[in-house]
Amino acid sequence: MKTIHTHTLGFPRIGARRELKTALESYWRGESDAAALAQSARALRQRHWALQAGAGLDFVTVGDFALYDQVANHIQLFGCEPARFGFDAASDALTRYFAMARGDGHERCCGANHDARALDMTKWFDTNYHYLVPEFDTATGFALHPAPLLAEVAEAQALGHAVKVALIGPLTFLWLGRERGVDRLDLLERLLPAYRALLAQLKDAGVAWVQLDEPILGLDLAPAWRNAFEPTYWKLAQSGARLMLATYFSPLEENLSLACRLPVAGLHVDGVRAPHELTSVCDWLALPKVLSVGIVDGRNVWRTDLDAALAVLDPLLARRGQLWLAPSCSLLHVPFSLAGEDALAPALRASLAFAGEKLEELGTLKAALCDGIDAPAVAASLATARAALAARRASAQVHDPEVAAAVAAVPAGADRRASPFAVRKARQQERFALPSYPTTTIGSFPQTAAIRAARARFKSGALDAQAYASAMHSEIAHAVACQEELGLDVLVHGEAERNDMVEYFGEQLAGFAFTGHGWVQSYGSRCVKPPIIFGDVARRAPMTVGWTVHAQGLSAKPVKGMLTGPITLLQWSFVRTDQPRADTALQLALAMRAEVADLQAAGIGIIQIDEPALREGLPLRRAQWKAYLDWATRAFRVTAGAAADATQIHTHMCYAEFNDILPAIAALDADVITIETSRSDMALLDGFGAFAYPNGIGPGVYDIHSPRVPSSADIERLLRKAAQVIPPEHLWVNPDCGLKTRAWPETRAALANMVAAARAMRA
Ligand code: GLN
Ligand code: ZN
Repeated sequence: MKTIHTHTLGFPRIGARRELKTALESYWRGESDAAALAQSARALRQRHWALQAGAGLDFVTVGDFALYDQVANHIQLFGCEPARFGFDAASDALTRYFAMARGDGHERCCGANHDARALDMTKWFDTNYHYLVPEFDTATGFALHPAPLLAEVAEAQALGHAVKVALIGPLTFLWLGRERGVDRLDLLERLLPAYRALLAQLKDAGVAWVQLDEPILGLDLAPAWRNAFEPTYWKLAQSGARLMLATYFSPLEENLSLACRLPVAGLHVDGVRAPHELTSVCDWLALPKVLSVGIVDGRNVWRTDLDAALAVLDPLLARRGQLWLAPSCSLLHVPFSLAGEDALAPALRASLAFAGEKLEELGTLKAALCDGIDAPAVAASLATARAALAARRASAQVHDPEVAAAVAAVPAGADRRASPFAVRKARQQERFALPSYPTTTIGSFPQTAAIRAARARFKSGALDAQAYASAMHSEIAHAVACQEELGLDVLVHGEAERNDMVEYFGEQLAGFAFTGHGWVQSYGSRCVKPPIIFGDVARRAPMTVGWTVHAQGLSAKPVKGMLTGPITLLQWSFVRTDQPRADTALQLALAMRAEVADLQAAGIGIIQIDEPALREGLPLRRAQWKAYLDWATRAFRVTAGAAADATQIHTHMCYAEFNDILPAIAALDADVITIETSRSDMALLDGFGAFAYPNGIGPGVYDIHSPRVPSSADIERLLRKAAQVIPPEHLWVNPDCGLKTRAWPETRAALANMVAAARAMRA
């Protein structure tokens, strides 16, 4: 007797047409009330459960929904809202929730400390989803507030669904937080009674299974954390709830036998990221424990190779008699559904599966395992999948012999500049004669409503190409004139023509496709729509030369060309899985290298290649860092390698923990790097100083995320601080990041102060 169950670890909550975003933003603007927001949320949950049930899943997942962020939900569930918010316990939970998420003092009153800044946000493991970081200190206590979760359970049960509740496991929850004056692992003893009580209540409420997510089991864990798992789970087991421990995103490796040994009823593993561990897990996980195989990729948009999946599942099922099938991780990280994506090329569309389609794939796999692959419905589904994959493998849209030839012909030294930095620096100084503490910006200037309207009208056909170009030319002229007036040394054209730094290039490169509604939640109500790199990447024509040359024609000062680097293009897209990421990165590098060459030939002497996503591409396991950094930095150097000695290459990276990848940043060999540092009051620079970063460096001297205008004294203070760790002759003066989200008045005021501070430093 073979048993197959299907489930999902989580489902996108934003809605097919971003209904949650609409509901949230209307609530925040005060245009709707809490009841309306709750109603929208309930409707979304019900629709998503209906989809799960309709796809034949054995359980719907409850607890993965959140108005803003699931970690923030856990902060309230376990009653550990940071004391610094000064919440009155009797105040409204929703108001407190948004105060933690968005900072206080900008709307509805909750009787709290109105200056409290929001909880920090950081990336959820190696995804582009940002969670709100819990804060733990010695005074942190926990108190269970289960009512909202129990209400959602009741909501699903009332609709006749079998319920599996998904929670973040206690160790991962603590691990995700930031500690002050306490080792957060020491809080475990305080936290566990709340978890245990919750599990018991869920069991009493008739919840069949509770999924506890412990993705930290895929990390290089310190022994204290690893050792905490067994005692923790023995305590949780006493609740009597049936537990499914869920791991994902990376192989378990040295934690594999531990994960299999824990006293839980089932274990979920990521069969996409760690297919090589499935057999060992099957060996170690004693029956009758349930093995849940994450067989459908929850992190990418491609259709599953169902034949290959069945070949993996068949022997596991033969050995266990029972299996659960699921996506590898929550479907939060992929778009909602392919419905409405009719503008995609039919062959490409046929090879994709978004969240809704992934649920269908689970159904097909289940039917194939239960009824056999010859059952008519199964055979038809398998045939469709097979045909789509075969078409993709053979497609001329995917494989471009010219790209293959170009990759094969990359000369050995293509990833090196002709001369070392010192020689280049002298040539560049001769050419540009920049003052010390040269001033510049990161690329974009305010994206005004007028700019966005012009772009929208151009895209819809209401504005012709010539009229659009002339609108952009006048924006460029305005930006250049402003920079001249402010006295900046290295100008930019302002990026008025760009909506997004990846989309702008992707739309002009072969190998990229764009969806109509392929939104993925980034944080809160914010979503991104990553392009899909489906085939060989090639540059069809120059992409930025016209705008840049136009800007250079308006000034005697150097105008910096502005490109997005290959790793950021890769990292912020869904990428093909039929070749290694490194190969796609090299194709992107060659395309961008051609752009560097064309800018240079057109007389542009300074070119910036933005790589804000370099750090976030790091694999979760340290053992894999070196391989990644080797190919990633090489891709950057191949792009920059087209620059002659007298052409100055800049790069830019956003807020990140730079210190552990400084050698790789140095290995980029950019002439100048600009980074975000002002939010840490230049603390981030210490690493660059200690490492003796060899080339030019522009630590951001003010935070562009806030409309606050820094005084020139503020900026000068930061520059003096920077000059203590970085040799002054290496220092550049610039804001933290691009200015596109700012308005002109504060931009002008802040840059004027920045230029004044640089002048003061020179004097
Ligand atoms: N050049 C880009 C800009 O100025 C850089 C954006 C980024 O770092 N994310 O907007
Ligand atoms: Zn930036």
